[in-house]
Amino acid sequence: MQQAEIRVRGRVQGVGFRPTVWRLAQECGLSGDVRNDAEGVLIRVTGEHAAIVDLVDRLKRTPPALARIDLVEIMPGTVSCDAGFRIVDSTKGSARTEITPDSAICGECAREVLDPAQRRYRYPFANCTHCGPRFSIIRAIPYDRAATTMAPFRLCPACAGEYRNPADRRFHAEAIACEACGPQARLVPHIPSNDVPDTAACLLRDGHIVAVKGLGGYQLACDATNSTAVARLRTAKRRNSKPFALMARDLDVIRRYGDVSTEEAALLQGPCAPIVLLRAHGSLLPEVIAPGLRTFGFMLPTTPLHLLLLQHIDMPVVMTSGNLTDAPQIIGDDEALTLLGRVADFVLTHDREIATRVDDSVVRVVAGKARMWRRARGYAPSSIQLPPEFAAAPALLAAGAQLKATFCLLRDGVAIMSPHIGDLEDARTFDDYRRGITHLSGLYDHAPTAIAIDAHPEYLSAKYARECGLPLIEVQHHHAHIAACLAENGRPLTAAPVLGIVLDGLGWGDDGTIWGGEFLLADYRSARRMAAFQPVAMPGGTAAVREPWRNLYAHLKAAGLQPDASHPVLDAMIDNQVNTPMASSCGRLFDAVAAALGICAERQSHEGEAAARLEALADAHTLSDEDDALAYPLSISTPSAGSIAWLGYQEMWQALTADISRGTSFGVIAARFHKAMAIAIVAMARALAGVEHFDTVALSGGCFQNAILLEQTERRLRDARFAVLAHSIVPCNDGGLSLGQAAVAAARLMAAA
Ligand code: ZN
Ligand code: ZN
Ligand code: FE
Repeated sequence: MQQAEIRVRGRVQGVGFRPTVWRLAQECGLSGDVRNDAEGVLIRVTGEHAAIVDLVDRLKRTPPALARIDLVEIMPGTVSCDAGFRIVDSTKGSARTEITPDSAICGECAREVLDPAQRRYRYPFANCTHCGPRFSIIRAIPYDRAATTMAPFRLCPACAGEYRNPADRRFHAEAIACEACGPQARLVPHIPSNDVPDTAACLLRDGHIVAVKGLGGYQLACDATNSTAVARLRTAKRRNSKPFALMARDLDVIRRYGDVSTEEAALLQGPCAPIVLLRAHGSLLPEVIAPGLRTFGFMLPTTPLHLLLLQHIDMPVVMTSGNLTDAPQIIGDDEALTLLGRVADFVLTHDREIATRVDDSVVRVVAGKARMWRRARGYAPSSIQLPPEFAAAPALLAAGAQLKATFCLLRDGVAIMSPHIGDLEDARTFDDYRRGITHLSGLYDHAPTAIAIDAHPEYLSAKYARECGLPLIEVQHHHAHIAACLAENGRPLTAAPVLGIVLDGLGWGDDGTIWGGEFLLADYRSARRMAAFQPVAMPGGTAAVREPWRNLYAHLKAAGLQPDASHPVLDAMIDNQVNTPMASSCGRLFDAVAAALGICAERQSHEGEAAARLEALADAHTLSDEDDALAYPLSISTPSAGSIAWLGYQEMWQALTADISRGTSFGVIAARFHKAMAIAIVAMARALAGVEHFDTVALSGGCFQNAILLEQTERRLRDARFAVLAHSIVPCNDGGLSLGQAAVAAARLMAAA
């Protein structure tokens, strides 16, 4: 017999960890106890050495569904425990641990709500320690019911019994509820019904638009096969052409409309349950759902409410975020009833409040790997472990970007990223951003010593940071993108510099011009521009972001080609550089090529729309089979140690416009362009490797949301014997920027110390 203390770190509180230990310890014949404390979970046991090893082994192999074990340490014990094993109650205020993200309904709860023999049959708010709301209902920590929006609901005797029973799946499930004691769903306007979700399902089938109060915010739903309803929703939402997310009852329904790989099925069915972008097949759904695209964003029911709502609907349902135009997703009931009530015919609501907005996450699988596009529900605020050297960094806040904003708290070598917040130009979103920083910093008791910001003088995130009165660390936009990629890939702090290739829309450059097609030699601490896309005029500044034809005009002019119709005003703006910044932007190049093929030429409703449609247009046969020689030529100026090498497009525009006049299909042209980009990027990397030593290339920036560009570039770089780092767990777009800012600022502060 011996005594041992087992220390477990990671996401181990509020996820049913103690009851799991309690059960396993008894199975292993050990006595002792288990408790939560400031460092995680502490287990004290007395028993045979082999049994102790067995317990640790079983714990690692079968942890509770929502737990994540970062570290298990076994130390000699000092206390001899009596027979039996017990769970020690948490002492308030001692717990300092990770906050669990919201989780989709688990298999057991799903079976219960569909089983007439269970007491939670058809109860829309069933949950347990393995599933249900977490972050979105937390007002304060430690995480217990009184500190959540479940506080007003008093447990009934049956629920209280489950809550106190270590053998029950609902032992210490803080959000536990049932029909007798928990939140209730209702429809507004009121419809008499003894099964609210079922009544709402009838409304959807009848072609009505229904606003639904989801886990982290209101959503707008309608029958996705009903083109009148979908068109009505699109008009009412004033959301020109952003694709609508879809929800379906099960994988069988989804498979009728899109291909689902093993990885994609696992994502859809996992506890994070994000929107997964799937390749569409057939044209069975109205074009207006995802105009110009060949993908659908699908998710499975995330809550019992959604499960019951969809159960008898044999088709996909639009389930888009409940907001108007660019405003944040609505979480308040009053706002939902007034604002969404105008869009929706009915509101399916309930009386469990949402404390923090958490949008639906969006993931796309590219080259067999999940790529985060929008990191929110299910993922945030899970911690991201930085490489070990970062443990010595001081506590920091990183303010993030302007569009797709997130912020990041860094402490003890761990990064906590906020969920996706949105575009700060919208005043309500900016309010949310500021509130979010206060809320999350409060929950984590996080007091930063400095704030990392983007160098852009106009970013509202940087303006907010300037008002905080803390030391500021400016991080160049594209350097932050690379650092985010290095950090999520665990690149050591002291590793050699990489070639970071960052392709995005716009970011403030070191020289005060706009960058967006950059080749930087970078480590965490510093970055040096080695090459870039040839800068081209952006006539009208931000107007050129909205109106792709302006970029086409400027590109053709720069290439010495005559645009179809001359435009004297634009000529004057470009020639005299009036309201016409120069930008080395890959995003604007994609816009220009899209416009040349008539895609969103006049206007795009959101940045990246034209590029996404251009990608959808690309002919698959040309991409896979056609000779590289038919890809458009891009020129590369000879790199040298002291100057910047440029990627030029004159020959590409000549070949591309000749293809158009020849009547070459636009699908082939789009494919040749994509291929040309990948080939040129790799040629540039090889040329730069002749000037500076690097063997690893990091890919970042929003343009890499383009699956063709990412796949082709990655494959060709590997063929050229470079190691390639790309994004998976944080977005390659500006949503990942705050992580990179935090990593750069930490590296600089540690170097200075
Ligand atoms: Zn459950
Ligand atoms: Zn109850
Ligand atoms: Fe960017």
